[in-house]
Amino acid sequence: MDLDFDRRHIWHPYASLTDPAPVYPVTRADGVHITLEDGTDLIDGMSSWWCALHGYNVPQLNRAAAEQMEKMSHVMFGGLTHEPAIEVCKKLVALSPGPLQRVFLADSGSVSVEVAIKMALQYWQSRGRGEKHRLLALRNGYHGDTFGAMAACDPVTGMHHLFASHLNRHLFAPAPAPGFHQPCREGDITPLRRLVEQHHRELAALILEPVVQGAGGMRFYSPEYLRRARQLCDEYDLLLIADEIATGFGRTGTMFACEHADIAPDILTLGKALTGGTMTLAATLCTDQVAEGICRGEAGVFMHGPTFMGNPLACAVANASIELLLDSPWQQRVSAIEAQLCRQLAPLKQAPGVADVRTLGAIGVVEMKQPVNVPLVQRALIQRGVWLRPFGKLVYTMPPYIISPGELGQISEAMVQVLGDL
Ligand code: PMP
Repeated sequence: MDLDFDRRHIWHPYASLTDPAPVYPVTRADGVHITLEDGTDLIDGMSSWWCALHGYNVPQLNRAAAEQMEKMSHVMFGGLTHEPAIEVCKKLVALSPGPLQRVFLADSGSVSVEVAIKMALQYWQSRGRGEKHRLLALRNGYHGDTFGAMAACDPVTGMHHLFASHLNRHLFAPAPAPGFHQPCREGDITPLRRLVEQHHRELAALILEPVVQGAGGMRFYSPEYLRRARQLCDEYDLLLIADEIATGFGRTGTMFACEHADIAPDILTLGKALTGGTMTLAATLCTDQVAEGICRGEAGVFMHGPTFMGNPLACAVANASIELLLDSPWQQRVSAIEAQLCRQLAPLKQAPGVADVRTLGAIGVVEMKQPVNVPLVQRALIQRGVWLRPFGKLVYTMPPYIISPGELGQISEAMVQVLGDL
């Protein structure tokens, strides 16, 4: 592969073009294995950023794409509709918490967040409450890279501080303090409550990642906090936007992370694992109340409509991926991954460079005391046949659910060996 061209001409995520970090040339990916050009076989511990829950080169997903391609890869969604979109929306309505009945198909996670924010704004405008235009978000939150989404990310850990002066000014509550297994005491919710009490007249919505804060810190927090946040939204007339782009489709042990708290948001964003990692597709679901509120307003319609909305190929693959997931023993797989990661990463708690080790569902996180040298750590992991992508102080794994105990053991062992020495 022309890596020299790659280095000089191609942007990679969060990368420099003048001093690029190494990128590794991949020629194949099958199951949980990624094959590099030189024949190196890597066990994938990342599911390509939360997407590939069934692993790679999955026959059922390939077949769905091929069969759909024979019929049509794409038609515009304005004024036309098709079976793959209807089918995927039926599935999403059936799977997601009850009140979420209306679906907007978007083309990436960030766009689905933009759509969610626009829904919230248009809802209040339509109801003659245009002053409710700000968002309340959580510190350590992460919602994407587009401008609306960036403005709802943690202003410091959310990776977008460079753009701070160009972003809408929203409000931020401290990150939830109680961990996943801890109770949420009155004092834990007080900072959020205070902000809501003070600002509810100008707040359109509270936006959060339920239970697991991903790219803004890989933190797990108490479902009780989420339940109380829902109550606050009800009490003070705020919409709740749950961003389940990373957590959706079983990653935390329940189909959606909101289920840990037994709550339903008013607006839900989904993406990443929706197509099992085969292609890009996202969705924003909302309640009847939100949809009807929007459509009763001055515009009469919801003002968004991407070119590739409802792409039939992506929808067909999403249908196959959801069926495959539902036909699999995913709960057992995710809880077996959790138990194994919990056991095998535990020795790192004693390592001098390690600040914390935590696991939830099919997610294992090692938080170091200092930011890690990513190229160095990555090389050491690759030497042990494992693919991970650390960031900041965090080295973490969220493997495909189909990983075997032996393969997962290889990931844990590599993490223990490499991080234990730092
Ligand atoms: N929300 C969350 C919680 C995410 O983890 C991400 C992606 N890391 C996004 C939104 C943005 O999704 P995308 O990268 O598909 O635009």
